[in-house]
Amino acid sequence: MDYLSLFRMPTPMKITGRSSSITNSFINSIIPIIVPIIVPTNEQVKEALDILGMDHDSFQCAYCGATASEWDHLRPLVLNKKPTGYVSEIHNLVPACGKCNQSKGNKPWHTWITSSAKLSPKSRGVSDLNQRIEALHKYEAWLEPTKVDFESVVGKEKWEQHWANWESVQNTMREAQTLATEINQAIAKAYAKL
Ligand SMILES: [Zn+2]
Repeated sequence: MDYLSLFRMPTPMKITGRSSSITNSFINSIIPIIVPIIVPTNEQVKEALDILGMDHDSFQCAYCGATASEWDHLRPLVLNKKPTGYVSEIHNLVPACGKCNQSKGNKPWHTWITSSAKLSPKSRGVSDLNQRIEALHKYEAWLEPTKVDFESVVGKEKWEQHWANWESVQNTMREAQTLATEINQAIAKAYAKL
């Protein structure tokens, strides 16, 4: 019995490994729930599922057809570390599974879906991919998406301060990581069995 093949060392963590989730939180935290624009009606959810050609008894991932567990932003909220202006409204959200949501990240859906990205529908060999792509294009054309202009609403000063805060958190994380690496290496050296 090869017991060693059952063993996996947990992946070491880095403070700077949280960098992009911090960026996402700086963007997600400024996007409000605008009632009634964003909260959908029962009719709108039905219409959404109809456009996606979904049987209302099963709640499927629009990208791959697996059981859906969440609603994913079709147009990403974040691009190049900045908000795109898109928000969480029904016509910018599609039912998705965790695998697709994670694999897609902030990538545009149409390039990601047929890419060889890890866990993408294409790389998982989803058989009705072309039909799904067609439905997603229809979904995208359904209603005009809201595009928020943050800076013009809150003013230049607040907007710049928000990004200065982001920069400062990122710099602190980098400094903290440098010290963490030093500590890590000192401990590794002290405990190394020669
Ligand atoms: Zn999926």
